Amino acid sequence: LVSRDMRGHDTEVKIGKVSVGGERVVVIGGPCAVESEDQLRETAFAVRESGGVALRGGAYKPRSSPYSFQGHGEEGLKLLKQISGETGLPTVSEVMDTADLPLFVDHVDCLQIGARNMQNFRLLSAVGDTGMPVVLKRGLSATIEELMLAAEYILARGNNNVILCERGIRTFETATRNTLDLNAVVYLKQKTHLPVVVDPSHGTGIRELVTPMARAAIACGADGVLVETHRNPAQALSDGKQSLTPPQFLQMVRELRTIAEAV
Ligand code: PEP
Ligand code: MN
Repeated sequence: LVSRDMRGHDTEVKIGKVSVGGERVVVIGGPCAVESEDQLRETAFAVRESGGVALRGGAYKPRSSPYSFQGHGEEGLKLLKQISGETGLPTVSEVMDTADLPLFVDHVDCLQIGARNMQNFRLLSAVGDTGMPVVLKRGLSATIEELMLAAEYILARGNNNVILCERGIRTFETATRNTLDLNAVVYLKQKTHLPVVVDPSHGTGIRELVTPMARAAIACGADGVLVETHRNPAQALSDGKQSLTPPQFLQMVRELRTIAEAV
């Protein structure tokens, strides 16, 4: 079902009023995690003013350590809905458990399946059943084929609204958090009909590398980028080192626009 041969044309996925996989390249921005009302509001307005078209923010965080900040859960989802109302930005947030799906359906515009859950097949099917748009992130050590098969689980439930996301993979390299596999973008665009976005934040783990790799992603044909930004990265409760400041985010969007016009 994910194969380009099956459909013959590109699938456009709508997140609220925003179309992903159409003419325009999209920038989805926001903090790694929803931390507070002020933090989310300030960051969201900065994203909108910069030209970002959707707001990301985790309410349930899959942290490597159980002692790290785990997200505000339902409270975080409520804040996303509130700030979405204030800014007009549609929202994307990670769902980790099928039991939380009814809450997500009520509070966000697009689901995210995180790298760590890419092969949680029950979750994939349940997300498929909601019919909601979903950003499906590539697993930490998943092959492109495995990513396509994970998407297949969602499409098999009659939900075509899947956006594939390359977010870097584990390799022998340790200088960067992950190795961003831009081959995957081109490969997936050729083999499937689904939109492909890139997350250069998790793909690199280093703020200074985020904008250059976002540029590369758009240059090689990605339909958009998913980028972490925080009003004060030094104080972020998660992923501060890879979060852009609002001025850096604005500058990135400007640069991406130029590249998008050229490709
Ligand atoms: C995130 O988007 O903050 C996140 C946890 O991403 P990933 O699942 O790609 O690690
Ligand atoms: Mn993060």
